[in-house]
Amino acid sequence: MNQEFDYRKKSVVGLIIIFALLFCCSGFSYYQHRKAIETEKRQIILINKIKNTRVLDPNRPMVALTFDDGPSPYTMPILLELEKHNSLATFFVVGSNVSSYPKELKKMQEMGCEIGNHSTSHPKLTTLKPEGVKAEIEGTNDAVSTIIGEKPTLFRPPYGEINAQVAQLSEAPVIMWSIDPEDWKAKNSAQISEHILNCVQDGDIVLLHDLYETTAQAVVDVIPKLIEKGYQLVTVSELAKFQGVTMTNGIQYGHFKNQQ
Ligand code: ZN
Repeated sequence: MNQEFDYRKKSVVGLIIIFALLFCCSGFSYYQHRKAIETEKRQIILINKIKNTRVLDPNRPMVALTFDDGPSPYTMPILLELEKHNSLATFFVVGSNVSSYPKELKKMQEMGCEIGNHSTSHPKLTTLKPEGVKAEIEGTNDAVSTIIGEKPTLFRPPYGEINAQVAQLSEAPVIMWSIDPEDWKAKNSAQISEHILNCVQDGDIVLLHDLYETTAQAVVDVIPKLIEKGYQLVTVSELAKFQGVTMTNGIQYGHFKNQQ
């Protein structure tokens, strides 16, 4: 009887130990599993922070703000305003300005903004010989890649002056515009902002210049108002992509409206 009792007692103790061990093991593996999920989550957040990964809704309207002639002291305030609203834009930089604004170039790249080539010294490229055009384009490509390790992906000719030779030598899609608030002439932030808000349609490309304080002020007003109207502020390449357009080097694009 006693022996049987001892045996039962031992069995119960044994079972308790096995269950305890199983409980500990499963608890530990659950802990490991949770830890792995947390680490993964942290990595995703980190990647999003660096790459500024955004979720874009193809069913909502999009507009591309573009800034020419910079960088300048007003470029960083514009970038910070875009960042504040999780928005992007495209900057057509002038090569001769680039080396003075490495922080701005790096910030553009870090945010995921697009950088375009707007020549090295802003001449009328149509008046130059092929070697001159090439030098103007390569000068900016080199200046940009020295700072961020990548060449500009798009091209916009100074004054919008283009011919077949310049288009061919640009070796990039040629980006024009569909909304021009003439910010360089107006120098009035309310007027610039009002012009954009009155004209804007899905697929528009807006021409601005990050050279003027009034343009930087207009941006502070117009970005939240565009978002309020339902617009997503994207780069030119994002706009093309969401309209199903594959851009070709040397071809001109003024907007990406009603492509389908
Ligand atoms: Zn220009």
